[in-house]
Amino acid sequence: MSGSTLAIHGGTPVRSHYLPYGRQFIDEADIASVVQVLQSDFITTGPAIEQFEAEIARITGAKYAVAFTSGTAALHGACFAAGIGEGDEVITTPMTFAASANCVLYQGATPVFADIDPQTYNLDPKRIREKLTKHTKAIIPVHFTGQPAELDEIHTIARENNLVVIEDAAHALGAQYKNKSIGSIGDMTMFSFHPVKHITTGEGGMITTNNPLYYEKLLQFRSHGITRNPDHMIQNHGPWYYEMQFLGYNYRLTDIQAALGISQLKKLEQFVDLRKKYAAMYNEAFRHTKTIQIPYQSNSGVSSWHLYIIALNLEQLKGSRKNIFEALLKENIGVNVHYIPVHLLPYYQELGYKQGLCPNAEQLYNRIITLPLFQGMSEQDVHDVIRAVNKVLNHYSK
Ligand SMILES: *Cc1c(COP(=O)(O)O)cnc(C)c1O
Repeated sequence: MSGSTLAIHGGTPVRSHYLPYGRQFIDEADIASVVQVLQSDFITTGPAIEQFEAEIARITGAKYAVAFTSGTAALHGACFAAGIGEGDEVITTPMTFAASANCVLYQGATPVFADIDPQTYNLDPKRIREKLTKHTKAIIPVHFTGQPAELDEIHTIARENNLVVIEDAAHALGAQYKNKSIGSIGDMTMFSFHPVKHITTGEGGMITTNNPLYYEKLLQFRSHGITRNPDHMIQNHGPWYYEMQFLGYNYRLTDIQAALGISQLKKLEQFVDLRKKYAAMYNEAFRHTKTIQIPYQSNSGVSSWHLYIIALNLEQLKGSRKNIFEALLKENIGVNVHYIPVHLLPYYQELGYKQGLCPNAEQLYNRIITLPLFQGMSEQDVHDVIRAVNKVLNHYSK
């Protein structure tokens, strides 16, 4: 049994082997699904892509879904379809992965960071209003950790100012906002199938939309800007003819990956339920720990719990976030930090974004630690994390 001496000080670690913060869960059915496609006629964009798109549309309640090679490529496609271009401004949150803002730069437009609500960690609608200018074209809210952003207020702002809403739902497959599934609400919604997300295709992403014009643009954008639909062509030289009408990319997901996605989707409900259960175990364990603030849950939505983030009450602690983070790693707990605010990344600093731009996000960044949470975890793993956190925080508690 491990004692109270921290592993970082030479004690026995809580776990003998490393527990990552997130990882994929692949079973025999997933493998069989991929093998079946490998033995079929299509390995790139074929029937499995269509089926995967139809399944995502059905599960989210959206009319259309378009698969992409990654969530990042999907965001790029959405920015293109929304008509975002040079001279436009797009408001997003700094508390996200760089891709949520990079997609705006890909289109030659300017990301504008609005600060977060210190309670929900999501974009604060009041701060969005302060950032509106005559150049604002779109808002990209992120459903941070899986907890839906304040979509009603965001859509009110969008309606009043004629803006497109592109939801970054990389964390939020299986989440609900006011009894509606995420993916059925905004103009366009992006999902990611990176291995740490709710379901995986290795790399992969999807846009859902109810708008047929966006749908057509997205399909064309992911395949070089080419159409083969005679109704959409300017010329027609004959049956061989296809038409490139704008500069698109090759962002096509393969049928091999879609087969994995279709199989993974069958387990989505089970995956989300497990994440909810483990998050509830963490909440229960840390509810009364004075050195920790557990994640606030808004009652306007149901989180799909991509991440479980504790915020340290640093005034109650003798150690820094870095001390505590390093001590947890030595206990073999794969902690992480989500995220370094995007405007503080050197590339963005170089573009002229200044420290102090989003004080709530910057203060939160200094206090947060992400604990392991994924569908392949056991209850014993959760107990190990709780034991390690208590051990480390007891040591550093004032
Ligand atoms: C994972 C993620 C992305 C990017 O998705 P990829 O599939 O890795 O390209 C974008 N935004 C957020 C918030 C993410 O977590």
